[in-house]
Amino acid sequence: MRYRDLGQTGLRVSVLSYGASPLGSVFRAIDEAEGMRAVHAALDLGVNFIDVSPYYGLTRAETVLGKALRGVPRGRYYLATKVGRYGEASFDFSAARVTASLDESLARLGVDYVDLLQCHDIEFADLDQIVNETLPALRRLQAQGKARFVGITGLPLSIFRSVLDRADVDTVLSYCHYCLNDDSLTALLPYLKRRGVGVINASPLCMGLLSDRGAPAWHPASARLKAAAAEAAAFCRRQGADISKLAIQFSVANPSIATTLVGTASPTNLERNVRWIDEPIDASLLAAVQRILAPVHNETWPSGRPENNA
Ligand code: NAD
Repeated sequence: MRYRDLGQTGLRVSVLSYGASPLGSVFRAIDEAEGMRAVHAALDLGVNFIDVSPYYGLTRAETVLGKALRGVPRGRYYLATKVGRYGEASFDFSAARVTASLDESLARLGVDYVDLLQCHDIEFADLDQIVNETLPALRRLQAQGKARFVGITGLPLSIFRSVLDRADVDTVLSYCHYCLNDDSLTALLPYLKRRGVGVINASPLCMGLLSDRGAPAWHPASARLKAAAAEAAAFCRRQGADISKLAIQFSVANPSIATTLVGTASPTNLERNVRWIDEPIDASLLAAVQRILAPVHNETWPSGRPENNA
């Protein structure tokens, strides 16, 4: 496993890290014991950064992750969770709620502190509230020792600059913007580097789009994007290759991105994902797949308030 610095936090995180949303049965109904084995396999293979949220499976992912982490020495992993999003359309970024929320997460996770506490999907919030109320509340929790660092997450890239121009934040978590079909995060990387902000990239498989199983029914991509991804996956199969492998190799290759979160509740997939990042990327397959995906390059979907999708 390779490790990179997460901004100026002093945390050296594995380039591939563990996204725990599947533990909440977000993609398919999972077997809890299998999901716990996937967490242990990740740690055994050198993955040292784990991301979760009370939103995933409406607290189930945190509960299952907490069970998996019981008995694991706290120094073996960095743990990130989130505040503010509690359901598909349930948000509360008030200081009171996010403060209580962290205590609830700590109890479910069975730990005294998290390494990173993030505002979850801030495009659904009033960004003035994030800057003036939520982030100051998170800094107070940091001062109490309950969270070591503070971050923000979301889909539209413009939200990161909007907040960072007005507040200090240790990390950003962007998703579906540094994968085979969409690398629009690239344009923001120099700004984030200048600001010393750690970059976490999530969803290298574009939330399952870049896999043989394909996107789950709730996936927000357009039919055109889903069709292009399915065509790219079929092309890889015909070459005896796996699009998920190419996708993960592509996402971890950029040294300006500290870590890429991939989600799986399957120990077998987890082991394959870690093995793949040590193999060289097939440059001609990458070029061919990028050609197939060119008509949908950087196509995304709206998320959150209209004013945050500018
Ligand atoms: P992903 O792109 O990692 O895709 C996950 C899907 O891919 C799952 O269905 C999984 O079973 C499948 N998969 C994983 N490895 C595979 C393999 N080798 N072969 C075939 N299929 C494979 O998307 P994700 O889970 O959405 O993102 C990873 C993590 O990032 C999440 O668990 C979460 O922790 C984080 N995340 C955060 C936000 C946010 O904060 N707003 C948004 C998205 C993701």
